[in-house]
Amino acid sequence: MKYFAGIDIGSTAIKIVLVDENERIEAHQVSATGSHFHRNTVEALGRLIEQTGFSRGDIAYITSTGYGRKLFKEADESVSEITANGAGAGAGRVSGEVRTIINIGGQDSKVILLDRDGHIKNFVMNDKCAAGTGRFLEMTARNLGMEVEDLGALHHKAQAPLTINSTCTVFAESEIISQLAHGHNREEIIAGVHYSIARRIVRLAKRVGIEDTVFFDGGPALNAGMVSALEDELMRKVVVPELPQLTTARGAALLARSAWIGTGEQVNV
Ligand code: ADP
Repeated sequence: MKYFAGIDIGSTAIKIVLVDENERIEAHQVSATGSHFHRNTVEALGRLIEQTGFSRGDIAYITSTGYGRKLFKEADESVSEITANGAGAGAGRVSGEVRTIINIGGQDSKVILLDRDGHIKNFVMNDKCAAGTGRFLEMTARNLGMEVEDLGALHHKAQAPLTINSTCTVFAESEIISQLAHGHNREEIIAGVHYSIARRIVRLAKRVGIEDTVFFDGGPALNAGMVSALEDELMRKVVVPELPQLTTARGAALLARSAWIGTGEQVNV
């Protein structure tokens, strides 16, 4: 059996998915990107291969994607995260036909519109402003002395979400500190931040149009509060896959498998 690696080198995290020849997920891993994109990706892949007990030769093809995709020199090909996310969402859907993908990453957010055949029809990206990205969640957690993975649990305990007025994370940070000083509790601030991000994403989504089914992925889709805020602002349910942070890496792994089949190399192995 041969395996195919999809590596999504994001601004915050390196995500790796290994699929087998039958497109089944064999292994996956998330690790911090850090500042040495190439070295950290090589090490992350090495760790995953070691964990699975495979050898490097078992990985027949590697497709890289994400912000740092061009910096990883061992990839056989690299594809845009829009292409990989589209491929991964189709495979990761829980139910219904995925037409709209909302992806929030560590440093950008995007909305992708697919046609009925799963091909990319349109997309819009925000990579200019941190206020609609995971970076805002990380900044909030830091200021509240918490871990980003714990924000979601507090969202639903808020009596009423605070309105965050600042349109930029730098000013939002001062606003949050001032709200804490004025006695507002963490729950209200956290819910306020989730709604603030959700409103930005919905504005972005309206630029390409929102069609059923809406699929929400990227690391912040692990945050149940973020999911609720997005559903409230969209006024509809969203579908969150089982491994939302890995959708794009999974798509890249599936594209790696297709590319390998396309090369005909499998005939010789
Ligand atoms: P990128 O591809 O840009 O590196 P990711 O899709 O990996 O981004 O998302 C990173 C973001 O996801 C972080 O900024 C953080 O806000 C959020 N995140 C990561 N892990 C978790 C978690 N376990 N629970 C909630 N949020 C998370």
